[in-house]
Amino acid sequence: ASVQQTEHVWERHYPQGVDWHADIPKRSLIELFDTAVARFGDKPFLEFLGKRYTYRQVSALVDRFAKGLQGLGVRKGRSVGLFLPNTPYFVIAYFGVLKAGGTVVNFNPLYAEREIAKQIDDSETTIMVTLDVKATYTKLARMLVETRLETIVVCPMADVLPFPKNWLFPVVRRQDLALIPHDAHHVRFRALTANDGRFTPVAIDPVEDVAVLQYTGGTTGVPKGAMLTHANIYANTVQAALWFPEAVDGAERMLGVLPLFHVFAMTCVMNLTIYKGGEIILLPRFDLDQVLETIDRKKPTLFPAVPTIYTAINNHKHREKYDLSSIKLCNSGGAPLPVEVKAKFEEIAGCKLVEGYGLSESSPVATINPPDASVPGSIGMPLPGTIIEIMSLEDRSRPVALGERGEVCIRGPQVMKGYWKRPDETANTIVDGRLHTGDVGYMDERGYTYIVDRIKDMILAGGYNVYPRNVEEAIYLHPAVHECIVLGVPDPYRGQTVKAYIRLGEGQKMTPEELKAFLKDKLSPIEMPKQVEFREELPKTMIGKLSRKALLDELEAQGKAA
Ligand code: AMP
Repeated sequence: ASVQQTEHVWERHYPQGVDWHADIPKRSLIELFDTAVARFGDKPFLEFLGKRYTYRQVSALVDRFAKGLQGLGVRKGRSVGLFLPNTPYFVIAYFGVLKAGGTVVNFNPLYAEREIAKQIDDSETTIMVTLDVKATYTKLARMLVETRLETIVVCPMADVLPFPKNWLFPVVRRQDLALIPHDAHHVRFRALTANDGRFTPVAIDPVEDVAVLQYTGGTTGVPKGAMLTHANIYANTVQAALWFPEAVDGAERMLGVLPLFHVFAMTCVMNLTIYKGGEIILLPRFDLDQVLETIDRKKPTLFPAVPTIYTAINNHKHREKYDLSSIKLCNSGGAPLPVEVKAKFEEIAGCKLVEGYGLSESSPVATINPPDASVPGSIGMPLPGTIIEIMSLEDRSRPVALGERGEVCIRGPQVMKGYWKRPDETANTIVDGRLHTGDVGYMDERGYTYIVDRIKDMILAGGYNVYPRNVEEAIYLHPAVHECIVLGVPDPYRGQTVKAYIRLGEGQKMTPEELKAFLKDKLSPIEMPKQVEFREELPKTMIGKLSRKALLDELEAQGKAA
């Protein structure tokens, strides 16, 4: 056993009312859903741009969707792709696929065609579900020709919109709709669900059967499918619920602005709300004014998001126009939450913002800060049933001492079964039941863990390790900075040198020299950015994380062009 584990350093500081030893049942997501329908049947479940659905209404559509899929040949273990932005169809299709016995493959609708084709091929997906809007349908139509994809289930956007010009958002206009051919490759949602809903129940082994293939770059960057079993995702949902005993069954209102195809929202927005019998106020995509307007008017109580969303609210010019007082708790995840951003947001919203940590491979949550004892800059403590170990970067089987840096490793019921069709990568990632995350971190003597950086993002400058995150934290202290990304660029003398990309707040001005003067007493000379570039926008991933990879790709393309 490791040093951290035997000492149970976190035990003395574990949040009041949370039982680390609580029983976490091994159940299927079908049970999760059906239990909620039985308990909360006529309570509101989904709200989408003014249109509301109860648990029972969604359940009826799920069953019919499942029967329709079985008619298309879906059986146990078959992959069905969801190519859907946030709409009620996501929830219906997700549980429809699971009830039919299939495996959900989440696709990011913003992916380039080449990436979509690769993922269809790797996951062996022959059926995909999408919307009848050009933005999504057109990409998939090409896949019918170029890949093994055979059938597209098309969901009509107009059916889930209450009126064409929504008070919040004119989501689709007539010219945005795609023309869908009438042929054997296309099945309309209405035709698929025109049945009595009596699908053939499929026996599920929660521990063995894969519910979701969640594609991720992982630590190597090559996209691969994390196999999340029913029990993995069910466990993580229960673990997250155990962490917040204050949440009231049947009464919470969840703001669903993160995309549900991302593992963070899948568990912490969709499945957690279902487990607690709450209502999801679903938004089709991130639009800052719409988010603020929705909080003001629809009064959500929970608001999980990524750091860039909280940053955007902090910097909104007219944020005091909106009443944010309904929010009880916010949890940030997916990327480091700068200390400054947390403090400012808590002041503005008047509620707690706690940081958690996780990854696709752990369904995703591994640690969270206790709301009443949250430590800025830390990712908090292990969820119930979860063990965090910090292992040596040189010798992966040796745990390091408290306070020392190493690779953050996770053990727990939420750790994936492995990577789909990649036994070597699986064996390299899960060693002795321990998930190696590729993140560098340390644990303090109270049992709080801190992420220093990802191993692969470390900059090697003149023989020293520079952690970009450390440099970013220092840059964020400057009030004119809105967002920043720090990375290593090639340097003839040092091998690599530090470059900062910065987006300033609206109307703000700064020169590279002013920034360096500001950072002088905050960073060592080796960490000091040698290059500073100001930009109007910084690239982001679909879920809204700042994307270091996009900048690296850009640099590589320039290098090739030069
Ligand atoms: P993904 O599986 O693509 O969602 O990304 C997971 C990765 O996001 C982790 O391995 C971390 O590098 C990063 N991450 C998630 N949460 C945090 C956090 N609170 N602080 C720092 N990094 C985080």
